[in-house]
Amino acid sequence: MEFNVDEIRKDFPILHTKNMGKDLIYLDSAATSQKPIQVINAIMEYYKTYNANIHRGLYDISVKATEGYTNSKEKVAKFINAQSYREILYCKNTTEAINLVALTWAEQNLKEGDGILLTQMEHHSNIVPWQILSKKKRLVLEYAKVENGVINMDDYKKKLENAPKLVSFTHVSNVLGSINNVKEMTKLAHTEGAMVHIDGAQSVPHMKVNVKDIGCDFFSFSSHKMLGPAGIGVLYGKDEILEELEPIIGGGDMIRSVDFEKCTWNELPWKFEAGTSNIEGGIGLGKAIEYIEGIGIDNIRKHEIELVRHAIGKLEKVEGVAVYGPELGKDKIEGRAGVISFNIHGAHPHDVATIFNSEGIAIRAGHHCAMPLVNKVLNEPAVARMSFYLYTKKEEIDKAVDTIEKVKKVLRIKKHR
Ligand code: PMP
Repeated sequence: MEFNVDEIRKDFPILHTKNMGKDLIYLDSAATSQKPIQVINAIMEYYKTYNANIHRGLYDISVKATEGYTNSKEKVAKFINAQSYREILYCKNTTEAINLVALTWAEQNLKEGDGILLTQMEHHSNIVPWQILSKKKRLVLEYAKVENGVINMDDYKKKLENAPKLVSFTHVSNVLGSINNVKEMTKLAHTEGAMVHIDGAQSVPHMKVNVKDIGCDFFSFSSHKMLGPAGIGVLYGKDEILEELEPIIGGGDMIRSVDFEKCTWNELPWKFEAGTSNIEGGIGLGKAIEYIEGIGIDNIRKHEIELVRHAIGKLEKVEGVAVYGPELGKDKIEGRAGVISFNIHGAHPHDVATIFNSEGIAIRAGHHCAMPLVNKVLNEPAVARMSFYLYTKKEEIDKAVDTIEKVKKVLRIKKHR
């Protein structure tokens, strides 16, 4: 199918609404994506026609709900090339998925003095769970350096020599847009005997991810960033690893049998999903994956590369604008995802975002839940960020870049670096 952004936009009702009386220009898809009508309808249809609890009903609508929920796991497994849906655990979001790795595998396998290696470009959700666990178990946390918008691989290799037991890094930076070579990083970590977790919150929605090919042990992502509903996320884990782990939340559905003294666990993935599931979330996520596959994930990636090339080309020409991220040069724009952080010299990013809003443009400003990266590596209190998806148009980027001149005018910025 030919990629046609105008046709795609027809599926997204919110893109035809107003913001501050102007056409909404949504440039904050890294925070959350908009939802196509197909996903909205799938959730509505579930509530209108087959709402029932799953796994326990012998009546038709419960069977249908169970099928919808389980089929969505099969779709997720196929989408990221997991072995089977036994490897797909549903939880709330990427954050909860990472916490689940910390509270299961890491809690059950690490001991005092063991090391965990992260990088300086991590989102808080891939820092804080490890800090909490490190404090509790007296673990040693290290961070591979980030320089010129990318992970310094020499530093990464050097820190791997300290033989960390677990390495956890992001696939794509939500601030810098850099795409890490996760296959190579995983191979290096495995050579040193470490387990590998990858934060795929910013990759799975935008590019082909193949967990088998990458070879990682765990991989996390969120439905709400990939056209699906909020409140549901995925932890992929290798079958043989999950099989060995003890669950941390007990209750209905996660057991095979319960006696007054003891119980036995259900099979994967249900062992990790106690209580009533986010049924409509699973059904919505399944529909979102169907939608993405209908467009083609490679077509989405190609579209976003063109958007980044266009945006960087435009921003480079604007006086007084600093763009953060990898210094790749125009010929290597493929190393960047559709996330561009920038600052306007003399303007606070919050003022920038407020003035953008007055033009109907939604961008984000702040530390983007990556305070160590923004404050210590970029040396900025905050940055403004525009981020794209399959429904973003070049004209919208043009409008955003034009608005930079309005920012300068409103804030009376005259001199530039
Ligand atoms: N990691 C990265 C790289 C992210 O961009 C985000 C969301 N901004 C998260 C983790 C956390 O995702 P969620 O809020 O859905 O748990």
